[in-house]
Amino acid sequence: MHDSDFRIVTRFQSEFRGLAEYYQLAYNRHRLGLLRWITERSLTKTLGHKNKISVNKVWNRYRATWQTPAGPRRGLQVKVERGKGKKPLVARWGGVSLARRTTRVTLKDELPVVWRKRPAELIDRLMSGRCELCKAQTEVEVHHIRRLSDLRPGSQVQQPDWAKQMASRRRKALIVCRDCHSGIHSGPSVRQDSVESTLESRVR
Ligand SMILES: [Zn+2]
Ligand SMILES: [Zn+2]
Repeated sequence: MHDSDFRIVTRFQSEFRGLAEYYQLAYNRHRLGLLRWITERSLTKTLGHKNKISVNKVWNRYRATWQTPAGPRRGLQVKVERGKGKKPLVARWGGVSLARRTTRVTLKDELPVVWRKRPAELIDRLMSGRCELCKAQTEVEVHHIRRLSDLRPGSQVQQPDWAKQMASRRRKALIVCRDCHSGIHSGPSVRQDSVESTLESRVR
């Protein structure tokens, strides 16, 4: 149980971090804060749903404060014990800086010009409450990938629908319902670099 809560928290944190880095140039702190609030709500509901407990109980179970070089941070924390002599694995939600960047950083993919002109687009899509894969009208979440190149547009390899859709529209974020989102992460195929490969190194 803890292991999957661990994975869920890691996934939301990793995707939100990616989104925040990507949209920091286009969004102000208020918009990023809204995005964080929506993501946090999805995360706590997902954890609640998985454990069959209320969102309040999710907070009671996992609420935590930890120290960082920039001061204490609050959020959710899931620990997985690894037995004698090994440090527990720790997954955390929270502590991602929303400060607007004053200097330009080099990202793996630049924000397309068309998005810079319409920075509200992502939030509009999120607010529409419509899953872009199954078209269900429900509560939605953001699936975010770090690199468009991971989607291999035009590749001969059989790709899942979500990857084709993201590649063809050159989008790094896809708005999906909870079921479609967990399907993306449990499915085979396209590399999920955001979660699996960084899991061990980040939490050590
Ligand atoms: Zn869906
Ligand atoms: Zn995702």
